[in-house]
Amino acid sequence: MKYVVALDQGTTSSRAVVFDEQARIAAVHGIEFPQLYPQPGWVEHRPEDILGSQMDALRLAVRKAGIRAEDIAAIGITNQRETTLVWERATGRPLANAIVWQCRRTAPLVERLKADGLGALLRDRTGLVPDAYFSGTKLEWLLDSIPDARERAERGELCFGTVDSFLAWNLCEGHPHVTDATNAARTMLFDIHHQRWDPELLRAMDIPEPLLPEVVDTSHIVGMLRRDILGREIPVAALAGDQHAALYGQGCLSPGDCKNTYGTGCFVLMNTGEAPVRSVNDLITTVAWRLDGAPRYALEGSVFVGGAAVQWLRDEMGLIRSAAESEAVATSVPDSGGVFIVPAFTGLGAPHWDMYSRGTIVGLTRGAGRAQIVRAALESIAYQSADVIRAMAADSGAQPAALRVDGGASANDFLMQFQSDILGARVLRPRVIETTAMGAAMFAGRAVGLWTDEQIAALPQPDRSFEPGMEAGQRARLLRQWQRAVERSKGWARED
Ligand code: ADP
Repeated sequence: MKYVVALDQGTTSSRAVVFDEQARIAAVHGIEFPQLYPQPGWVEHRPEDILGSQMDALRLAVRKAGIRAEDIAAIGITNQRETTLVWERATGRPLANAIVWQCRRTAPLVERLKADGLGALLRDRTGLVPDAYFSGTKLEWLLDSIPDARERAERGELCFGTVDSFLAWNLCEGHPHVTDATNAARTMLFDIHHQRWDPELLRAMDIPEPLLPEVVDTSHIVGMLRRDILGREIPVAALAGDQHAALYGQGCLSPGDCKNTYGTGCFVLMNTGEAPVRSVNDLITTVAWRLDGAPRYALEGSVFVGGAAVQWLRDEMGLIRSAAESEAVATSVPDSGGVFIVPAFTGLGAPHWDMYSRGTIVGLTRGAGRAQIVRAALESIAYQSADVIRAMAADSGAQPAALRVDGGASANDFLMQFQSDILGARVLRPRVIETTAMGAAMFAGRAVGLWTDEQIAALPQPDRSFEPGMEAGQRARLLRQWQRAVERSKGWARED
């Protein structure tokens, strides 16, 4: 039996998942690491924490699986996206903590890019909207604040990388300086149409080209695992951003295929095939993956408050003791009794885009109680996701026949059935809900010839399917009410 190990380097933990040849999970090990908040709005990780926890997770998962290093056909890396690192090429020494994707410190640099009229160019070349979330201005900030960094970068003495790149450099013999097209697509520096670093954007953010990694295919042997880690060299055969790996791991291989990850927030991605679709709803256009030199594209949209609405019910409102209890409470009543919750705690994202929206409960009557509120909160996760999916359908002209789901809140059967009802589409929950790790394993297994494309297409297997049961008139009525509730949440935090 051969195995593939996926390294899933996430925002709060580093995990390693061992898959066998049938893509069944043989072992998992995860290790949390510290989050640093040096100032309000700033988020950092120590590079040695990222690397150390990931190496330990790998060793411990392999030990748990009880397999030998020679049985591992390949290792795939998937990672938290956009998080930015700079290190010395000669020694590997990081020059600063990693600036995490959540970090808002470069908001003023983004404002300057916008004031310089670069918004449209950025959108055209990178598919992104200018935002501090992406790597470009984080790198610019590091070069501005580390003494001599820009001069040293010009001389080729430094390396920039996102987490995939940093791990590949440190885990592989010979220190390859690479990143894959999905991670490059999150930097605000990469032309997704021509698949190259964009000279104009590099100039705009004053980034010297010698600093940048080579951009490779998502499924590609980037190097051999250092012998001292598991006692043997093993091909490191995939690099992929986490959401992109999940799209692949869900088997969303054809245009129109769509997945939603229900975590703290919700991440929706739709495969749009060979053509990058430009959104008119301010969704992001991104690289789904690049195989054999050919990029495939995706539309991406996110819901800021997804499972976090359930945490709010539990922690702030005290209406449930556990997230799982929300299901029994919601199904104890036949409907939400006309109550709608818009959990716009931090504003609304796509397709509404109103940073002044705030959380709103409407439709309260004397009979509205705990069960109706809990139910309305769960329903709000489905409504918000449906809004993003409908915007994607409008942008791409493709109506998804099914939505594939994963993430913590996808365990909630009530939520999944309501999602199916309100979308009017089938919802498919896979057998392996570790879809991010699964995707990284599939990319890696493909690169070493363990699986053909036909075999890969058959690996993700649905475990449970939810069929839309709601009558069309009822769906339309509820969606109209939801839109009215959203309108009432808008603009609340704007000062008058
Ligand atoms: P993340 O990766 O963002 O930490 P996870 O995929 O681990 O998220 O999912 C955790 C989220 O899912 C939490 O916000 C939690 O409230 C929610 N959640 C977990 N189980 C359930 C459930 N059975 N019903 C509804 N929400 C749930």
